[in-house]
Amino acid sequence: MFALDLILKKRNGGKLDRAEIEYLIQGYTNEEIPDYQVAAFLMAVFFQGMDADETLCFTEAMLNSGEVVDLSGIPGIKTDKHSTGGVGDKTTLVVAPIVASLGVPVAKMSGRGLGHTGGTIDKLESIPGFRTDLSREEFLTNVREIGLAVAGQTGNLAPADKKLYALRDVTGTVDNVSLIAASIMSKKLASGADAIVLDVKTGSGAFMKTPEEAELLARTMVNIGNGAGRKTVALITEMDRPLGLNIGNSLEVSEAVEVLKGGGPEDLKEICVELAANMLFVARKGTMKKCREMSCRALSEGIAFLKLSEMVKRQGGDPGVLENTEKFKKASVSAEWKSEYDGYIQKMHAEKLGMASLVLGAGRKAKNDIIDPSAGISLLKKIGDKITRGETLAVLYTSNTESIQEAVYILNGAVIAGEDPVMPGSLVLGRIE
Ligand code: URA
Repeated sequence: MFALDLILKKRNGGKLDRAEIEYLIQGYTNEEIPDYQVAAFLMAVFFQGMDADETLCFTEAMLNSGEVVDLSGIPGIKTDKHSTGGVGDKTTLVVAPIVASLGVPVAKMSGRGLGHTGGTIDKLESIPGFRTDLSREEFLTNVREIGLAVAGQTGNLAPADKKLYALRDVTGTVDNVSLIAASIMSKKLASGADAIVLDVKTGSGAFMKTPEEAELLARTMVNIGNGAGRKTVALITEMDRPLGLNIGNSLEVSEAVEVLKGGGPEDLKEICVELAANMLFVARKGTMKKCREMSCRALSEGIAFLKLSEMVKRQGGDPGVLENTEKFKKASVSAEWKSEYDGYIQKMHAEKLGMASLVLGAGRKAKNDIIDPSAGISLLKKIGDKITRGETLAVLYTSNTESIQEAVYILNGAVIAGEDPVMPGSLVLGRIE
């Protein structure tokens, strides 16, 4: 087999078989096929696309390029969730403990934030002492003994994806649905869970800007997951507005704790219950109705909160900050961001709020930037609220006074007010099984 023949085949609209795709991925991972040929192949895929069979083979070839976590020694249907990323998305901190508290093991590897979107690992690391760098042994032991572990990605999972993603990044081939779906799913499948729930976000704060794009990505990922023998369900959820009221790492942990204690913003609670219910559903705990009821009960009875505390203790964190979130270290500077308009809030621009939070220190522009766990934005108003000129819309937190001015500049136009009252709709726009 020759790489050139496969490039030509794809360029001319042909369909590659499993052996051909494996040849390309293995050859690239082993450095037998050079960057320039794989770049040409990716561009051919960008224009000609891959069908469902090719996309599944491509994903499995990347999955098999490295280590695969073996969860088979742990009894039960092990579940995982993945969010395509958003602003204020702290759902894992609520959903994983709900599911684990109901006897379904959750083995979750999460990422760090980049750009305007946050990452679960950064949020958890805002808890003093919390370790996300678990060894494989520790990770498996925790899932076995307490039913829950959330850790950073360790080991050599899907190394082909790492190489290919870096190449796509510099060759204009990132935004192709088959390549995105294969990239995300190769890592998810390598994490070893039996059943997966995907949260595909759409809107200004999301990777997929329109519901149509999000639905296509969700369908493609669900096909891959089920094709690879893992029960997979996707929700399509709105990310035009930030999720909940807090953006920023320890601020988001505090808000997740509120939900786990039976309170918190309704939009956040709704989406957490829906995601948790779907995880219970794919773990065969009953009908969706029953799984929703179980999830709500885990919140109102406090068992999900206890499960998070147990995980925090296990992973070296101080559970005292969960008991009393006032104990989180406070940012040294805070400033009020005020409304310039009267009216009802019609729209909140998630991406602008995410970027402003990043500038305050809560996020990263580049991979190696250091984040400030206490920085971020706490919104006082949501869509539909009545506001008056001069009223405080949010409090900005930072350790760097100079960043306030830049954040306020970015926030210009982030809240749109109008004369007519609006009722915010459900965040859950669709479900693909
Ligand atoms: N996230 C990934 O992991 N891969 C992509 O291709 C895009 C987003």
